[in-house]
Amino acid sequence: MAQGQQPILVLPEGTSRYLGRDAQRMNILAGKILAETVRTTLGPKGMDKMLVDSLGDIVVTNDGVTILKEMDIEHPAAKMLVEVAKTQEDEVGDGTTTAVIIAGELLKKAENLLEMEIHPTIIAMGYRQAAEKAQEILDDIAIDASDRDTLMKVAMTAMTGKGTEKAREPLAELIVDAVKQVEEDGEVEKDHIKIEKKEGAAVDDSTLVQGVIIDKERVHPGMPKKVENAKIALLNCPIEVKETEVDAEIRITDPSQMQAFIEQEEQMIRDMVNSIVDTGANVLFCQKGIDDLAQHYLAKAGVLAVRRVKKSDMEKLSKATGANIVTNIEDLSPEDLGEAGVVSEKKISGEEMILVEECKEPKAVTILVRGSTEHVVSEVERAIEDAIGVVAATVEDGKVVAGGGAPEIEIAKRLKDYADSISGREQLAVSAFAEALEIVPKTLAENAGLDSIDVLVDLRAAHEESTYMGIDVFDGKIVDMKEAGVIEPHRVKKQAIQSAAEAAEMILRIDDVIAASSSGSSEEGMEEMGGMGGMPPM
Ligand code: ADP
Ligand code: MG
Repeated sequence: MAQGQQPILVLPEGTSRYLGRDAQRMNILAGKILAETVRTTLGPKGMDKMLVDSLGDIVVTNDGVTILKEMDIEHPAAKMLVEVAKTQEDEVGDGTTTAVIIAGELLKKAENLLEMEIHPTIIAMGYRQAAEKAQEILDDIAIDASDRDTLMKVAMTAMTGKGTEKAREPLAELIVDAVKQVEEDGEVEKDHIKIEKKEGAAVDDSTLVQGVIIDKERVHPGMPKKVENAKIALLNCPIEVKETEVDAEIRITDPSQMQAFIEQEEQMIRDMVNSIVDTGANVLFCQKGIDDLAQHYLAKAGVLAVRRVKKSDMEKLSKATGANIVTNIEDLSPEDLGEAGVVSEKKISGEEMILVEECKEPKAVTILVRGSTEHVVSEVERAIEDAIGVVAATVEDGKVVAGGGAPEIEIAKRLKDYADSISGREQLAVSAFAEALEIVPKTLAENAGLDSIDVLVDLRAAHEESTYMGIDVFDGKIVDMKEAGVIEPHRVKKQAIQSAAEAAEMILRIDDVIAASSSGSSEEGMEEMGGMGGMPPM
């Protein structure tokens, strides 16, 4: 073969590549589709989605990030928006849908600008300027408040329309109490609020436990079911005779040697149990295993013991009771023990659980979430997680903004004024950014079955007078959201706008998508999507 005619393969065979406008168009489309998907769930009147995975497991939810996580997204640009939702979830715990739909709208507006032959770098630059200005405006309209009343309102706003309707107020009380309880020096470690869910009761039967609930039972039926004035030991080593490190062979030549050997092992176990009991402990949580014989001796000594407790639960037990987690049984001393008013084993909807309650000033607490069915409890749990996030953010920052689309409209209004002060084509991008933010009130209105154009016109007019005017989705009126008690942490909006802008900017700067072939796996994936794995055939 003539050498000159050989094609030059820079990329491996099967690699797909999109360049320039094609790449942009595809990425923008993917982002828009994703935003469109979660849009209908926004706000108190938003609808839910039913997600069925390949095993047939069902999730019914209204939570943006849960939907996106369950969807198993393939497209790289769409994945970047999923990241936006995840960051929002990690940083604040709420506002995930908002962040994604703002990002989607920014992309949509960018597309119009691209059609007008405006260079993507100019759009990205304009968006960045606008995002910075938006943060300034947001800081300016924020309200300083973190009193109990504010925290209650913030919690209730986050839970509106999330399957908690009947019990919104009592749940908000539990959440505010829980956050206040674990707060240390103005910081809230959300991990120290454990959420344990059990179906089989009404949502308003949910309770706050001043301590920890462990989904385990006591290791031996001879142990007490209830210990008052508990002295609690936490061990993260097994209570059994250590196996030798190297394979050892013990030759036994007559039965008495065997007997002596067994007795020696028994003695070792007895010593271990004694050193625990001698500290005064009457409750023991062990992260590892507890030997049968040790269980027997512990039961005889009247100790309530639980084994194979999760590491995360051990940490919560330590925070709640003040006990130290000890690695060596010999090192356990009375000072390492924690305290609780009562430790008991109780049956909760047919399953045994260990309740460590009435701790004094616990720095870890548990919310026991109840609901009629598994799916209800799971959705209530997600609502509670969001609410914990917003209450914690408010406690930490002491700053809130009005909800119901009020901040978005106000920022849009002031951004439009700001755009006028900018020369050059970036001005168009700043205006586009302002308009994109209006997607939030627009969607709230649409989801409530209202005419979104009328609502936007009314809202803009109302903002000539007052900063806090938003849309009351329940009766379709424009009201002062601050007075209506619809408020959200400043951090929710700050993070949502920032990460949406950054993601849009990043997607816009891409002009070349080079994707390695994944040996046909994406096609298989498509087929599966078409077949809707797990769904019964129509
Ligand atoms: P996200 O995942 O973004 O938190 P949500 O479905 O929780 O999405 O909806 C949040 C939006 O709903 C916010 O803009 C919030 O201000 C608004 N909202 C919450 N409660 C009300 C209410 N009672 N009236 C109007 N808007 C509300
Ligand atoms: Mg929310």
